Amino acid sequence: MKIILLGAPGAGKGTIAKLLTEFDGSVQISTGDILRYVVKEGNALGKKAKEYMDRGDLVPDSLIMDIMEARLQEPDCRNGFILDGFPRTIPQAEELTKLLARLKIKLDFVANLDAPREVILDRLTTRRTCSNPSCQAIYNVRNNPPKEDGTCTLCNHQTIQRDDETEEAISNRLKTYHQKTAPLNGYYEKEGLLKTFLSLVADDTIADIIKALKA
Ligand code: AMP
Repeated sequence: MKIILLGAPGAGKGTIAKLLTEFDGSVQISTGDILRYVVKEGNALGKKAKEYMDRGDLVPDSLIMDIMEARLQEPDCRNGFILDGFPRTIPQAEELTKLLARLKIKLDFVANLDAPREVILDRLTTRRTCSNPSCQAIYNVRNNPPKEDGTCTLCNHQTIQRDDETEEAISNRLKTYHQKTAPLNGYYEKEGLLKTFLSLVADDTIADIIKALKA
């Protein structure tokens, strides 16, 4: 499959993307995960990105486009990809449209994940993420905790609350989403690519997306 996942922070993009990779081996490409990896490496690029991320702001479009142009040409993308957290702004979407045309890649559709605001806030404050940059498994302390408290079930690294999951950063991320990312729904609707899926129970959302892919 070749799809883009849109939706507010906490709408379930990461969880749904990971589950969809099991369906047909398409790769998940999460710009958030890539950036957190770069931040862990601690080089100049990582230090610059961290400042934006900790505040809940978006990192500059040019930086993301350089990363994505290289990533989409890696061999593992040939079988399919799920874009999670990219594009995040209209300029990124416009650049992506040009890039995909240049690479002769056609998207199946753009899946907008929709969940009520209370659900989103609850998910963000109870989320824990594996600190191992090459794992980044997602847990929820209430309804999907790791088997052992504070330890990733998959790789045994510590699970953490992300630096951008403080109340202040969360509220800024949601504001940024409404200002800069929500307009992408209109952009992809005009392109005839937008489909909206309710994102409450992951298995149901996956079934709906797979049904749409087969249709
Ligand atoms: P996420 O894990 O997708 O919530 O991303 C975490 C943070 O990484 C965001 O709050 C942004 O600071 C940054 N980020 C991720 N993807 C993008 C993007 N496409 N454009 C700009 N910043 C991004």
